Amino acid sequence: QWIYLNGEFVKKEDAKISVYDHGFLYGDGVFEGIRVYHGNVYKLEEHLERLFNSAKSIMLNIPYTMDELTDIIVQTLKKNALRDAYIRLVVSRGVGNLGLDPTTCAKPQLIVIAEELAIYPKELYERGLEIVTVATRRNRPDVLSPKVKSLNYLNNILVKIEASLAGVSEALMLNNEGYVAEGSADNVFILRKGVLLTPPGYIGALEGITRNAIVDLALDMGYEVKEEPFTRHDVYTADEVFLTGTAAEVIAVVKVDGREIGEGKPGPETQRLLKAFRQKVVEDGVK
Ligand code: PLP
Repeated sequence: QWIYLNGEFVKKEDAKISVYDHGFLYGDGVFEGIRVYHGNVYKLEEHLERLFNSAKSIMLNIPYTMDELTDIIVQTLKKNALRDAYIRLVVSRGVGNLGLDPTTCAKPQLIVIAEELAIYPKELYERGLEIVTVATRRNRPDVLSPKVKSLNYLNNILVKIEASLAGVSEALMLNNEGYVAEGSADNVFILRKGVLLTPPGYIGALEGITRNAIVDLALDMGYEVKEEPFTRHDVYTADEVFLTGTAAEVIAVVKVDGREIGEGKPGPETQRLLKAFRQKVVEDGVK
């Protein structure tokens, strides 16, 4: 496996960065997780746009253009002979001194990793996920916007820890007002009386690219879709609940905090949306 690291391809074992990199010392940097279906990089423009917006927000200058990054991603896929893959693109602040000051970091580091997919097992899509809600709160949008996909993922890691302590693999975070925000690395949707609801960005959620794709797809398929705040009660009493994300795509949730959702198995509309989503990415891929 070859990793792109600051202008060259190095073997996975040799892909190392300095312990003085502020990405390592402080989580100072931004990243994207991107999916490749049949050689087609899914929603690349949207991912790059989000990357540049995240970077702009934290005053990190990415020393590459979007076209250059596109080219690097394509080269990385070629070098690893991958057509279906997960790409991790990381831009860290770079190597500086031990202080916080980012101006001591001379140049951001760019890392592109392309790997075979490690997605949830097929049977989980058939069975659905059991999840919980956790004490960890989504960071407030007025402090650091949840729209910034930064390397600082401690909230999300705490969510994972709380989930695993509860014996499940995923969980939902609320915001400080108690509205449901998102999962550790996934957005959340509920279906109530035929209407699809997902929390608006200001509640405290990453503007997921899969989330937006599902909103578009659902509208095309004739669903009513609303971005509206909702509470745990709304989740417990929803007809269907599902999560969306680059890695997970669309995955049904069948139990939340011990409350069975709907019939306790993946709902028909969730399955319909997953099928349509997978169909669409294949169609998009055969270009
Ligand atoms: N929320 C968080 C915190 C994430 O890290 C991710 C993953 O990127 C998502 C939601 C889902 O976003 P996307 O569909 O763009 O992968």
